[in-house]
Amino acid sequence: MFDVAIIGTGPAGLSAAITLKMREKSVLWFGPADMSAKVEKAEKIANYPGVGIVGGRELNARFRDHAREMGLESVDKLVTTVSKVGERFMLLAENEIFEARSVLLATGVVSAKGVPGEAEYLGRGVSYCATCDGMFYRGKAIAAYCAGSRYAHEVEYLAGIAARVYLYSPERELAVSGENVERLESPIAAVQGRDRVESVRLSDGREIPVDGAFFLRNAISPASLVPGLALDGPHIAVDRQLRTNIEGCFAAGDCAGRPYQIVKAAGEGNAAAHQILEYLARTPGDAL
Ligand SMILES: Cc1cc2nc3c(=O)[nH]c(=O)nc-3n(C[C@H](O)[C@H](O)[C@H](O)COP(=O)(O)OP(=O)(O)OC[C@H]3O[C@@H](n4cnc5c(N)ncnc54)[C@H](O)[C@@H]3O)c2cc1C
Repeated sequence: MFDVAIIGTGPAGLSAAITLKMREKSVLWFGPADMSAKVEKAEKIANYPGVGIVGGRELNARFRDHAREMGLESVDKLVTTVSKVGERFMLLAENEIFEARSVLLATGVVSAKGVPGEAEYLGRGVSYCATCDGMFYRGKAIAAYCAGSRYAHEVEYLAGIAARVYLYSPERELAVSGENVERLESPIAAVQGRDRVESVRLSDGREIPVDGAFFLRNAISPASLVPGLALDGPHIAVDRQLRTNIEGCFAAGDCAGRPYQIVKAAGEGNAAAHQILEYLARTPGDAL
């Protein structure tokens, strides 16, 4: 079991990972190896101390170099569920389960809000991982939202199992094979049902009866990622120690609130790391 699981390879996650590594904690770090897509997109950053005026691409490259220098390597998997079981956290990432004593959410701000019913029916017909849950839909009808070509293979995997896949993707040119795949013109607007998912409603008002709905995208809203997590509007509710309402679970960076700034994210990552060190020291079998 790891001391800490950090979710996010942006400046918040990186900063926390560096500090925790320096303090010789075992760190399990999730997120893309190319780090933050947001930092990469920033045209010019002028307020990150010590680096002068720098382009986002260059700063992101320096972040990658720094991680490498520190011997930090991320697990390039999307974490889909974090749950606390007794004193430990279980993390599900693309079919694999990991365990950690504490968790830092450094997931950035999630622009995909999710659709009504998505969080409610998670685990009752809604899934974020085709390879984890696809087999439960053998011979059944499912709806799938596919954010882009990175997830096309997941749709094809579903098509090989389900009787019918109703697919919506904002990427018109998305190439997905499978005779049982029906492309939808309108996006999925809501997931509906009683005890479980029974249908999806499209934005044009059409209702399609389905047994499940898969949302294949690179971001998951915090409420769906960590059931029971308290929110403050679109952000994760944290106190000044960056603690969430779940003991042992911390949040830093954009996901914990404005301003959305690289320097603030890195600072909070560091502050959260220190809080995590204190938390680990308070729990049995560890010392600061
Ligand atoms: C176009 C643009 C320009 C900007 N310009 C500036 C600027 O000039 N100056 C400035 O200070 N800030 C700027 N920002 C804002 C800045 O990029 C963010 O404030 C900063 O990147 C936040 O860092 P973060 O670590 O909180 O999150 P992010 O950088 O968003 O990183 C989050 C990471 O978590 C990963 N992740 C999320 N969910 C999961 C999951 N479930 N499993 C695994 N990994 C996951 C993501 O893939 C990503 O790697 C800009 C942002 C944009 C979009």
